[in-house]
Amino acid sequence: MGDAKRAKIAVVGGGVAGASVALLLGELGLEITLIEQKESLLNGPPICHLHAGGNLYREISDAQCLQLLRESIEFVRLYPSAIDLRPTVIALPLRDKGTPKDLYPRLALLQKEYARLTVEDKQNEVLGSVEEYFKLFDKESVAALQKREIVANPKSFEEWMIPVAKMVDLEKVQFPLIMVEEYGINLFKLAATLTLSLQNLSNVELHLETEVQRIASKDELWELSFEKEGVEKSEVFDYLINAAGFQSGQIDDMLGFHRERFVEFKAAYISKFNSAIRMPEVIFQGERGTPQGMAQFTPYPEGYVQLHGMTEEITLFRDGLVKSSPLSAQPKLDKKFIEKIYKGWSASESAMRTKLAIEYVAQFIPAFKSAEVGAKPLYGAQQIPGKDATLRAAEVSFEGERYARCEIVKASSVLAMADAIALRLAGLGYLDDASVAKRDLQHLSSLKEESIVQLSRALAKQRDYPEAMADVLNKS
Ligand SMILES: Cc1cc2nc3c(=O)[nH]c(=O)nc-3n(C[C@H](O)[C@H](O)[C@H](O)COP(=O)(O)OP(=O)(O)OC[C@H]3O[C@@H](n4cnc5c(N)ncnc54)[C@H](O)[C@@H]3O)c2cc1C
Repeated sequence: MGDAKRAKIAVVGGGVAGASVALLLGELGLEITLIEQKESLLNGPPICHLHAGGNLYREISDAQCLQLLRESIEFVRLYPSAIDLRPTVIALPLRDKGTPKDLYPRLALLQKEYARLTVEDKQNEVLGSVEEYFKLFDKESVAALQKREIVANPKSFEEWMIPVAKMVDLEKVQFPLIMVEEYGINLFKLAATLTLSLQNLSNVELHLETEVQRIASKDELWELSFEKEGVEKSEVFDYLINAAGFQSGQIDDMLGFHRERFVEFKAAYISKFNSAIRMPEVIFQGERGTPQGMAQFTPYPEGYVQLHGMTEEITLFRDGLVKSSPLSAQPKLDKKFIEKIYKGWSASESAMRTKLAIEYVAQFIPAFKSAEVGAKPLYGAQQIPGKDATLRAAEVSFEGERYARCEIVKASSVLAMADAIALRLAGLGYLDDASVAKRDLQHLSSLKEESIVQLSRALAKQRDYPEAMADVLNKS
């Protein structure tokens, strides 16, 4: 059995997975060293939607949707300040093969599970009232809302639907429209929350701008060699957590572990719309990867709107999805994607794809044609473990007793992931069984909102995004 005080745990990668596991294990009193090669935490692929209930993914199983619902509720309870509490409208274009009716059974199932979770614990009621988890709007009610005045701070589903009724081309969509409590996540606020709470934990050592270059296994210990500002150091750890995101396969390769996974490069685009109207998220369903892929309109403050178009010309990329091989656990992305990740985009490609995204969404929201490029895209590569590229709810896998691999696809899975790792650490004697899944996080709950806002704005600016994108549009 190990000694709780002496056990040293290394976490490689400071994305949402690594930073969250460092925070959750750090709060349990373990000695953690978090190593991130970039200059700040959560500086990889974007995180914008909570995906509570997986309502944006028609193609995934009910089981995955229920898992996403449960995990998202925990996530909202853990990081409330990073949640953008605005509903989502799901519209099915007339051209779509499906009908709104196809979505009802899943919505009812999710509502039932949400009801069960709120009975289990009243504090789980973080997605609005159970009765109003979702609402259907038929053509007549949308036409009636079209005549109402826009409300500056919408509260009810009806008030949120007014600008949608006025701006969406109602000749292009099927009825009813569906409004559901699917929220957003603000990446900058989440990064600020995690950074500040980790800085407050004296037992978590954070190494930024430090790249892990080699790992050797020695007498049941791990020797990590890392480089910071040209100086190489090495340190020995009892337990290793691989949270390297799309580069997790590189860590597996260093250790000779085989693992199947996909890596996918994707991008979302930032536009600026000259409109002070407060909109919900609006999605126009479509078949992923076809020229009719889903269009997503995600509002930020001050008229900034993030756009996805699930076509190869917009969010997805030809050859952007790659798979590991029997020789390497690291799927090989083409050089052009790696260059984008490390050096950025050319101004012309960034403008071209953003304009295509604006036109794509303007098919359904005609006034949106006047939108302009608002900032550089949000982009990056993510891993999907296993053999099924549509998997959306995944957490962690293990190799032997002393190696965990974080394999989340959606940010909301971080708690289930950290709990599974804590359970293994308890098995090694590093933690009491009673403290596994402890949620009383002192360093997180003592954070001041104004400090989070200040740092999230600073992070947006440092990364060259409008500071307004660091704020949330909560319903008040
Ligand atoms: C366009 C796009 C939109 C997305 N939208 C959403 C969304 O709305 N909601 C959602 O939940 N998810 C979304 N995702 C998925 C989400 O971004 C990822 O699943 C998530 O960021 C994975 O977190 P992670 O911590 O595992 O990996 P990452 O965020 O990739 O973090 C891994 C970290 O490890 C570091 N690292 C790697 N190797 C080393 C090394 N050798 N030494 C030191 N550091 C190293 C990297 O620098 C990186 O910071 C989106 C992804 C993309 C591409």
